[in-house]
Amino acid sequence: MDESLDGMVRWHARHRADASAVICGDARRSYSELYDRSGRLAAGLLATGLKPGDRVAILLPNCIEYLELYLAAARSGLPLVPINAALTGPEIAYILEDSGAALVIAADGLDVPEGLPVIRDLAALIDGGSALEAVVPGPDAVFFQGYTSGTTGRPKGCVQTLGAFVEHFRRSFGLYRHDADDVMLMPGPLFHEAPALFSLAQLYYGGTVLLLSRFDAATALTEIGTHRATTIGFAVPTMLDRMIPAAREHDTSSLRSIVTAGAPLHPETREGTLRAFPTAALHEFYGGTEIGIITNIEHRAGRAFGSSVGTAVPGFDVVLLDETDQPVAPGEVGLIYVSPIMMAGYHGRPQATADATRTLDGVDWLTLGDLGRLDEDGHLYLVDRKSHMIITGGENVYPAEVEAVLAEHPAIDDVAVIGLPDADWGEAVTAVIATTGEAPDLDSVRTFARARLAGYKTPRRVVIVDEIPRTASGKILKHRLRNDLAGGEPPSEPGG
Ligand code: ATP
Repeated sequence: MDESLDGMVRWHARHRADASAVICGDARRSYSELYDRSGRLAAGLLATGLKPGDRVAILLPNCIEYLELYLAAARSGLPLVPINAALTGPEIAYILEDSGAALVIAADGLDVPEGLPVIRDLAALIDGGSALEAVVPGPDAVFFQGYTSGTTGRPKGCVQTLGAFVEHFRRSFGLYRHDADDVMLMPGPLFHEAPALFSLAQLYYGGTVLLLSRFDAATALTEIGTHRATTIGFAVPTMLDRMIPAAREHDTSSLRSIVTAGAPLHPETREGTLRAFPTAALHEFYGGTEIGIITNIEHRAGRAFGSSVGTAVPGFDVVLLDETDQPVAPGEVGLIYVSPIMMAGYHGRPQATADATRTLDGVDWLTLGDLGRLDEDGHLYLVDRKSHMIITGGENVYPAEVEAVLAEHPAIDDVAVIGLPDADWGEAVTAVIATTGEAPDLDSVRTFARARLAGYKTPRRVVIVDEIPRTASGKILKHRLRNDLAGGEPPSEPGG
């Protein structure tokens, strides 16, 4: 039996030809249509002269063709480099250059830097691509070169093989189940690994992907009711926040599970989701583009370890190391390392790959750069990104802890805490605050924080901005804030 991605979708196309594979707005593809069209796409791409291993960059909004391109990559050996089309011209140019893309598939009207062949008419490619036999690559072939969000600096291209993706599908099945009867709402953008991974897992196991062309809460909730969606494949916490207030006005009783990750799940979002979607189990995982799902937890109302991101999923080990690469004691903060390493490395960055990996007693471990704590039972608690840690007067301050406190201040709508260079303290804890009302002054912020935090964690500076810059998944772009504020000037485009 062929248990590759291509083999499994081919099986569904043969045995369940008319079953719905993908629905997006008014468009629908059965499994036989999906498989036929992705085969033509694979052949059409190879007919342009590309050779297996050549990278194909994608700059498209969510659409059925996006999933057909993923399946075409699984069939042609042409790895995909999915790119967020909302990035600026220079950001897109950087990823195109870094990835070594040989061809770009772009939406109409989207500017693409000059120098690379661009395909905009996928219909022509699909219609013209019937003659060629596509090559089916083996499990070691590169399938995906997805870029990290760039929360801590330049985005890095994570190289993953077809075999690694099949491992991801099996892990997802073990945790969340994917049934042929399942209808999975996918509100997330397919240029991120998690939405792509969950959608492809759904196709691997023969269910239906209910794809949103772009997220908005009302459409998501209406689609759940109309198509009796059984799962929300993957939604970042910001999406849950937007759906919670209106959920009761829609019929979401068909939902059995919701999966979230990507940014901190605040207690109000967690408890609000459990209340708003009472029929659905709420799963949160911790993971990243490099490795997929690492830990998982099913949240229940008022659980003691509610702020944990769960325990290592079967087959994975997590260890927390100190600065000298020694394991830390339970409850102590350490850098989170995971094994096995799923990615084949950061594209073109042997040093970054080496910096992120350690070999201990013959076993390779990878870190995503997150600090955490493990309790005696193996529950992992995220503390912060290591690169966000502030060292002030020799003390370590984890900004996430200070942000959680300041978020409770009645005059603060949104907050980021960063360290700025300071002659006396090395770094000064700085609260960057967005507010729609009257801006709080430094004294009021300090008094509020000091009542709840040790003195060295209390902000020494306060900067007011219009908006805290965030990625699409809701992460604060701290390196941008630091760059903008290090000279003491307010960010020029705080909303960027
Ligand atoms: P870069 O590596 O370029 O800075 P990035 O780390 O943001 O980008 P992604 O792969 O998109 O790239 O995101 C992975 C990160 O998301 C993790 O390292 C972690 O910091 C954060 N994350 C993932 N899951 C959770 C979660 N459940 N709760 C809080 N944060 C999470």
